[in-house]
Amino acid sequence: MEKKQIDWSNLGFGYVQTDMRYVSNFKDGKWDEGELTPDANVVLNECAGVLQYAQTVFEGLKAYTTEDGHIVMFRPDLNAKRMADSARRLEMPVFPEDRFIEAVAQTVKANAAYVPPYGSGATLYVRPYMFGTNPVIGVKPADEYQFRVFTTPVGPYFKGGAKPITIKVSDFDRAAPHGTGHIKAGLNYAMSLHAIVTAHEEGFAENMYLDAATRTKVEETGGANFIFVTKDNKVVTPKSDSILPSITRRSILHVAKEYLGLEVEEREVFFDEVKDFAECGLCGTAAVISPVGKIVDHGKEICFPSGMDEMGPVTKKLYETLTGIQMGHLEAPEGWLKVVE
Ligand SMILES: *Cc1c(COP(=O)(O)O)cnc(C)c1O
Repeated sequence: MEKKQIDWSNLGFGYVQTDMRYVSNFKDGKWDEGELTPDANVVLNECAGVLQYAQTVFEGLKAYTTEDGHIVMFRPDLNAKRMADSARRLEMPVFPEDRFIEAVAQTVKANAAYVPPYGSGATLYVRPYMFGTNPVIGVKPADEYQFRVFTTPVGPYFKGGAKPITIKVSDFDRAAPHGTGHIKAGLNYAMSLHAIVTAHEEGFAENMYLDAATRTKVEETGGANFIFVTKDNKVVTPKSDSILPSITRRSILHVAKEYLGLEVEEREVFFDEVKDFAECGLCGTAAVISPVGKIVDHGKEICFPSGMDEMGPVTKKLYETLTGIQMGHLEAPEGWLKVVE
């Protein structure tokens, strides 16, 4: 298979249309067989449930080339399960988890020419999503849905090394207690846009959201979970029912414990104790871990001892170990890599 002529290492994180996508429709209480199509456009009725009441959920994962030339995906079974959880919370039908894995594998295979070569640092980002398609004007769940998967090649997240970022404590809330913060739904992002644009205008890379009820505990950013490292090398991550359960963060905790022999704690993290941590990072599929050098809380600065030039030493070890597993340099735990081709 011939790769597309793309300058892989200079790709950004943007939409590049690829050849094929997967589509399956839910109607009369069941999903159809599904198929690959070259048509990148979706035609919807003006009153479609997704357009009126935002009934839509999504996932994000990546496919990439390992050193031995295979195309693999990282833990797609967890994306399948998380999307099922998201769908149930928004009263949408679940796309069966085994079919989800099959659909993402098929879509990646059909776009193999866009999977960046090993060593480029680039990956093929895979976006499964689902939305209500039939007309809905009275507030209720749709009866018909479409599940789709498209792919887009994305560049290396860190060009020229992972520089620590500065973030701010947001004045906005991301998720309410007992709300939808724990599911991957577009609605959580729509309401975060004003907060992120505001943060960017003020010169910050990201927002740290606190718990909406008490504003004393750390939640997450708009699209990544926090990990902290204590001065005695314990890895700590916030526990909350309104945080999105990041697959990267869950994998990092496993790596910390089983590969690096570090103590890990998933517990409530009070903002007051953040100043005592040695390192801070943001975890998500796109960056794996972005180091945080500084947190600004209304003019008060928390500067981590790891500084603004490099990742902290423990963060770096976690990053290298997890990316080593992803790339096939280190043995992966059973079932973590799904070989597509
Ligand atoms: C997707 C997402 C993450 C990161 O999850 P991964 O599975 O690691 O990519 C974190 N927070 C939010 C709000 C998200 O939507």
